[in-house]
This record gives sequence, C-alpha cells and structure tokens, in this order.
Amino acid sequence: MFELTDVEHRYGTVRALAVPSWRAQAGEQWLLAGASGSGKSTLLHILAGLTTPSAGRVVVAGQDLAALAGGARDRWRGRHVGVVPQKLHLIGAVSVFDNLRLACTMAGLRVEEARIRALLAAVQVADLAQRRPGELSQGQAQRVAIARAVVNRPALLLADEPTASLDDASAAAALELLRTQAREAGATLVVASHDARVRPLLPRTYQLSEVAAAA
Ligand code: ADP
Ligand code: MG
Repeated sequence: MFELTDVEHRYGTVRALAVPSWRAQAGEQWLLAGASGSGKSTLLHILAGLTTPSAGRVVVAGQDLAALAGGARDRWRGRHVGVVPQKLHLIGAVSVFDNLRLACTMAGLRVEEARIRALLAAVQVADLAQRRPGELSQGQAQRVAIARAVVNRPALLLADEPTASLDDASAAAALELLRTQAREAGATLVVASHDARVRPLLPRTYQLSEVAAAA
C-alpha cells in the first residue's frame, strides 16, 4: 500500500529522519514509534505528501509522490489520504457538518450528506453537527477530526499522537475508533505515538531509530 526506500530528511544540516525501508500492505494497522524528536511527525508529513524528503523514494497507493507537484499533490492528498493532526485544525468558523462537507469539496469530490450524517453518528457526535468546533470538548473535537479524516474513504489514514493528554480509558477509545473507522473506510492506518499505552493496541510497529536523530 505504501513503500518507503532509503528515505532521509534534513532540516538544514540536521538529519531529522532515516527510514531505510518500510513497506505496508493495504488494510494493515501500524504504530509508528520513536522517542520525541525521532522524526515521527516528519514521516507522517512525508507519507501525506506535505513534506518532500531530502532523499529517497516514497510510493503511496501506487503513486510516486516525487512525480506530483503543487495543486496535483493537494488534490491527490484530498482523495487518498486522511490526516488527524496533533492539533486538530478543524475550521472554527463553520459547523461540524460543514467541516466534513468542506473536506469533500476541497478534494473535488461530491458531498454525500447521508455519509456525513452516518459518520458523525458513528463517532457519537450526531447531535453536535450544527455546533462550531469551539463549542466542543477536546474528546468530541477529536472524534470530529477522525470523521473528517475518513469522509473521503482514504486509502491511507494517518494520526499524529492521538492519545496525547487523554486518560487511559479515552486513549483506548480513541485508538479503537481510529481502528474501526480505518477498517470501515478500507484504509491502511498509521498512528504516530511515543505513548507506551498505544503499543499493545496496534498489531504492527515500525520503530524509528534513535541513531537517525543523533546522526
Ligand atoms: P517527533 O514527531 O518524533 O517528535 P519531529 O518529526 O517533530 O519528531 O522532529 C524530528 C526532528 O526534526 C527534531 O529534532 C525536530 O527538532 C526537528 N524538526 C522538526 N521540524 C523542524 C523544522 N520545521 N525545522 C527544523 N527542525 C525541525
Ligand atoms: Mg511529533
């Protein structure tokens, strides 16, 4: 489903990330593990086509990301990748429902209102559809962000530190929701986390090496 080969990223002269080889098959669910500063967020941005690596080859859903530029890359991302960022980046000026609607239109896809309603129900915020994101609790906002990330049935679902600042029960619930929604959307799931509680909740782990961060 994706394939990373000899990927490196540098910020200036500092090597932030090294991934010799990582392959994931369609539908697999992965933890991307590593200490703080080991490059997890950088690698998620690379998988989403938001950051172009300094070196190496990145193929996602059959697409070599180096071959996509500018607007084409943004359209590709909107259709094939769902992202749950660490800071959720919901659009504060419009309703929860319209946050999902915008995710469709910005990817150039038809708005399926019935699907949006069903997704909001699946993440237990159906009755909050007309609220603005600022009127939600942190947990509710995270569930909306998960629904928004899967609304276009992405092939790849990425979540960055989804359990940060959650208690044990909420952390387990967030992981379960990501896993269920990934499965139902037919997506491969990658969860970046340094949270030890997450490791037993995902079947596969890719461990970023400390060596890379220090090199
Ligand atoms: P993680 O998500 O695992 O904590 P990051 O991908 O955020 O790691 O960061 C990896 C390394 O790259 C860190 O050393 C961090 O300080 C550095 N880094 C991240 N973003 C930038 C940036 N925009 N400019 C310079 N250095 C950065
Ligand atoms: Mg990070």
